[in-house]
Amino acid sequence: MGGKSVRTGDFVVIEKNNNQWKGIIIQVGRNLITLKLKSGYNIGIRVDNKTKIEKTIGEKIEKHKPVKFELKFDKTKPLVSILSAGGTIASSIDYKTGAISSSYPAEQLVNTVPELVNFANIKTEKILEEMSENLIPKDWKKIANSVFKELKESEGVIITHGTDTLSYTSSMLSFMLRNLNKPVVVTFAQKSSDRGSSDASMNLICSTITATKNLAEVVVVGHGTVSDDYCLINRGTKVRKMHSSQRNTFRPINTYPIGKVYPSEKVEFLSKYRKKEEVKEEPYLDDKIEEKVAIIKVYPGINPEIVDFYVDKGYKGLILEGTGLGHVNTGEISMLPQIKRAIEQGVIVGMTTQTIYGRVNPYIYSPARVLSNLGVIYLEDLLPETAYTKLMWVLGHTQNKEEVKEMMLKDVAGEFNKRLQPNQFLY
Ligand code: ASP
Repeated sequence: MGGKSVRTGDFVVIEKNNNQWKGIIIQVGRNLITLKLKSGYNIGIRVDNKTKIEKTIGEKIEKHKPVKFELKFDKTKPLVSILSAGGTIASSIDYKTGAISSSYPAEQLVNTVPELVNFANIKTEKILEEMSENLIPKDWKKIANSVFKELKESEGVIITHGTDTLSYTSSMLSFMLRNLNKPVVVTFAQKSSDRGSSDASMNLICSTITATKNLAEVVVVGHGTVSDDYCLINRGTKVRKMHSSQRNTFRPINTYPIGKVYPSEKVEFLSKYRKKEEVKEEPYLDDKIEEKVAIIKVYPGINPEIVDFYVDKGYKGLILEGTGLGHVNTGEISMLPQIKRAIEQGVIVGMTTQTIYGRVNPYIYSPARVLSNLGVIYLEDLLPETAYTKLMWVLGHTQNKEEVKEMMLKDVAGEFNKRLQPNQFLY
């Protein structure tokens, strides 16, 4: 019997290669059946023509009740707060519809990864319940405020977050949390926490270990490879989701990772990072931002009026995701008149590259020099998303053209790398 005649919700006995499993079907793939065993564990069984599947009518499976883990305070361990901001890591799959909803409470997350208490005392709180594509700037403020509050009490804070827009949040937090003197770790999962194949547990373990270390930065921690061997610690301003589904999706961009963290608790630091004792001044929260900032991706055939649209809507800043070294269309269809108008109207225009890796440079080709002469700020090796959050944050403090330019080009949270190395590409 193949997998075709059974359905989600059926109780079955599967026999293959002298093994036998009993459980309830939670997913039927083309050649794969995912079974919830009586123990509560999920198992994926590859179905071939030697696999025997029998439906057991009438047999009942008791609903698996997760064992509630009693959190006891251990004086020898630091306190780490886990704040849940939604996303797949905080969601569970609805096996009837196959859809994922983001409503898995933080405590439940800890109950499913009890190993966390080996490294720290854990405190959890849910601050948002959203898939990250739905986040808006006020959510970044909310996250930053909650983190700042938690940092008063905890040695480190972990934010569990959706992957899609995670690097916008990590970069915004890097700007909003000034004189940060403890670790702030943003983590994620590509598969929901209730699935056997979820990457959530290891990412949470690695994040908890990182949150107890002598590190004073906002970092993103998650799988470094497709296996469960180690996680990467990446700087919050120089990291990006680079794969839509693989667990090792977050890669360092234009830099090396800060380090590798192994679930065994070993940490290898690979590049320079800020330590707690280097921060001499009091931490404070600086969450003033100007929300009227947009990103425009340049592409062949773009209608330059998109720039006018934002100017006429009262936008104060635009980040161009230019081609190559930082170019826009200047041929038969040219964006120059619209960009000139934007700058004349006082809009700040910044240039980044859609190649993601490398830096922009206005001195190689003459059209880029024209843009730079018009007043477009060439933002070195900044990621477009980091440029976007930084421009919002900078414009929240000053709208004076010269001051904005100066702040945009000044390193605030490790967002620039003066010396790019060939091996940092596709790390
Ligand atoms: N769309 C989801 C989100 O970004 C995906 C994820 O969590 O990984 O919230």
